Amino acid sequence: MDIPRIFNITESAHRIHNPFTPEKLATLGAALRLEPGTRVLDLGSGSGEMLCTWARDYGSSGVGIDMSQLFTEQAKLRAAELGVADRVEFIHGDAAGYVTAEKVGVAACVGATWIGGGVGGTIALLAKSLRAGGIILIGEPYWLQLPPTEAVAKGCRAGSIADFLLLPELLASFGKLDYDVVEMVLADQDSWDRYEAAKWLTMRRWLETNSDDAFAKEVRAELTAASERYATYTREYLGWGVFALMSR
Ligand code: SAH
Repeated sequence: MDIPRIFNITESAHRIHNPFTPEKLATLGAALRLEPGTRVLDLGSGSGEMLCTWARDYGSSGVGIDMSQLFTEQAKLRAAELGVADRVEFIHGDAAGYVTAEKVGVAACVGATWIGGGVGGTIALLAKSLRAGGIILIGEPYWLQLPPTEAVAKGCRAGSIADFLLLPELLASFGKLDYDVVEMVLADQDSWDRYEAAKWLTMRRWLETNSDDAFAKEVRAELTAASERYATYTREYLGWGVFALMSR
């Protein structure tokens, strides 16, 4: 079981697989006013940076599930490196339907809401693991400005314009699910650059050591097109944020 290989190549050097910097991740943890000992569930935990740094900085603990074998291994190494391996656990697997035995204070899905079949389904899934009064975290894209054409949406790697909402609409959608938005931290163009531009050097280095790989043609095509496409589309049209929600 694994995710498509292109992600394991282009994001192999990322600690955060989202348009967030370490500073924004720390800001989010501080904004949530985490108490030491708070348990955090993270569906689609990637390389574990959120669980590991929050355990180190805020004394939380928790469990992450991710379908990428590579990212899960990196998460375990990061936990050991930061001295929090006794408090955070990483499981390689499909997070669809995953519910914790022990309820958590924070239940998160940051940039992987397809796991629950969309934002609404993922909130419902996370709610099954959440203690009363706990916080749900949803990381999700939104349109900074509405793409004028479907081709522009596709340039942003969205399936269609309808895949995402404008920020006010996204915030309103949480209300319609009977959740208060109690905090948010948003990406900006600099943090988007850290996510997207970091892939380019990773791809270039991969190509240099894997020129004979059957996948090299695909990675080369991706690298050749990536910077211009990103500057034309994603950087101008796509926002991203993590939204903290509490049930009304
Ligand atoms: N939350 C992490 C990773 C976001 S990228 C971070 O912010 O760094 C999306 C992640 O979802 C990837 O790590 C990918 O491997 C994982 N993923 C995709 N489908 C999944 C599934 N069905 N179950 C668990 N993880 C999944």
